[in-house]
Amino acid sequence: MENGPFRYAPYGPAPGKEQSDFQELEATELYCPQCRRAVPVRKFLLLVLPEGDKYEYRCQVCGAKVGDKMDKTGQFYGLLRR
Ligand SMILES: [Zn+2]
Repeated sequence: MENGPFRYAPYGPAPGKEQSDFQELEATELYCPQCRRAVPVRKFLLLVLPEGDKYEYRCQVCGAKVGDKMDKTGQFYGLLRR
């Protein structure tokens, strides 16, 4: 398979940084570059992809995006693969 516009990974860890489950459970405070301190954040669902749901964290004070993450949904994929 050559490189195409779509990266298709049937299963396995996503490339790039990998976070532990512990970190994924709670991310209620993140550093905000605008506020220049750790702030409470809100979690927004951005995209639902075959490999998982993409979330974005935004500062509750100024609304700046302070982070994002991918929630892998193996169940969803399992349904598709069947
Ligand atoms: Zn902020």
